[in-house]
Amino acid sequence: NSALVWIRRDLRCYDHAALYHALRRFQRVYCAFVFDTDILNALPTRSDRRVEFIHASVCELHGELGALAARSGAPGGGLIVRHGPAVECIVQLACSLGVQEVLTNRDYEPASIARDRCVAEALRVEGIAFSDYKDQVLLEHEEVLNQQGKPYSVFTPYKRAWLQKLDAFQLTPYPVERYARHLAPLPTKEEIPGLNEVGFTTTNLHSLPLPTGTRGACQLLEDFLPRMAGYKEARDFPGRKGVSYLSVHLRFGTVSIRHLARLAMQQAVVGCEGAQTWLSELAWRDFYFMILRHHPHVVTHCFRAEYDRVQWDEAPELWQAWCEASTGYPLVDAAMRQLLQTGYMHNRLRMVVASFLTKDLGIDWRRGEYFFAQHLNDYDLAANNGGWQWAASTGCDAQPWFRIFNPVTQSQRFDPDGKFIRRYLPELAQVPDQHIHFPAAMKPLELQACGLQLGLDYPLPVVQHASARERTLMRFHFMRSQD
Ligand code: FAD
Repeated sequence: NSALVWIRRDLRCYDHAALYHALRRFQRVYCAFVFDTDILNALPTRSDRRVEFIHASVCELHGELGALAARSGAPGGGLIVRHGPAVECIVQLACSLGVQEVLTNRDYEPASIARDRCVAEALRVEGIAFSDYKDQVLLEHEEVLNQQGKPYSVFTPYKRAWLQKLDAFQLTPYPVERYARHLAPLPTKEEIPGLNEVGFTTTNLHSLPLPTGTRGACQLLEDFLPRMAGYKEARDFPGRKGVSYLSVHLRFGTVSIRHLARLAMQQAVVGCEGAQTWLSELAWRDFYFMILRHHPHVVTHCFRAEYDRVQWDEAPELWQAWCEASTGYPLVDAAMRQLLQTGYMHNRLRMVVASFLTKDLGIDWRRGEYFFAQHLNDYDLAANNGGWQWAASTGCDAQPWFRIFNPVTQSQRFDPDGKFIRRYLPELAQVPDQHIHFPAAMKPLELQACGLQLGLDYPLPVVQHASARERTLMRFHFMRSQD
């Protein structure tokens, strides 16, 4: 008997739920990945770091599956790679291989759930079973409910319940190696299509500190582990190496979430505050997956319906300034340049630029969310939507609408010596520390002393924060007065 494991955002072959179950239950197990044209054709450009990251990781996984098979004495092993609409490709492949079942790891996005229903139905017609497994999250949407059996909408009680549920069993790795001898040889003439064959060109990925595949994830993890104890204290400072940079690997499953949580838990239970805080971030990740699964309306609407009445501005020039990193607020602009140049943005800065777009520029959070979706390497619908709705005050457990980040004081607090700003805005390199956060406040002589011409070398602020803040308060007051 034989089965097909459909790999999606789980590009690894250790501690892999669907692969483990397939290998345990079937004698011959094939693994496949589809470059899904339904997803790829919707991307706005043919040069996308994520596609290149996936392509490199797929090639590595092919080799790892072969090596795993060889270690286990299996006759073959490797990854079958297709390019086309996922539903058609998987059904055709399952039929041509003659498998009895297709197994995969569960996805929680509404479009993926709909796609998986289509696949399951098309397979059923062919007499092939379809099954899916928890792998992407630590605890699923139905596993952490309140005493009334309802989903949580506030993070702190959710996290308390989440921590209580997260026992050793939940963190146990799937011993894929135990049954790896069941990996089937690849059908003949299987080759992985090149990046150009799936319609994409290379990007600057290889010049970034973003190693691909499970080896890349391992490298980042090894770098982070000695820093984990200092995470609580260092994580908010974008100029310091305080965070793990593992998000893209979590996004594409080149690292196991259980493996990460186990490592954090070992430190957290012996009182390491850094590990406890990092574990909380993994809880936020599950929290937003849970919110998306229970409340799929958040994809297009505010979590809290009344906030759909907020009247946002069109503001095309302000929007352009935000997208092009030319708002005149250095921390915002440096953050946007980090995003444009590397596809990554530090969490503190995601909060700052999202707040700036919605509360200083009065622009709908959905436009910022979409911009991030195009540019973030780690783009994930659940976390991105959750983060944007938090910053815009429209989400569950969000920043209260009357608390508005001041982009200058955020900068003074979290990039005190302007190290991060100078990294991405070299035009401000000579500006003294006390003015780096808001050069528009410099006097003519001070500007002259550091050779900076505002409006030429660096833009003047596109809005004044104090008056923008007042407008936002009125915007939200007006929305609330319509009750
Ligand atoms: P670390 O600080 O090392 O955290 C470890 C892991 O915990 C992260 O890799 C991530 O998987 C998870 N995590 C951390 N913070 C959060 C959070 N607030 N919500 C959910 N998960 C979290 N994260 C994404 O993975 N994809 C996104 O598209 C995304 N968009 C965001 C948009 C906005 C407006 C905001 C405010 C946050 C967003 N985040 C997103 C959350 C967070 O900013 C990133 O996960 C984090 O910056 C990634 O860097 P890291 O891996 O070094 O994180």
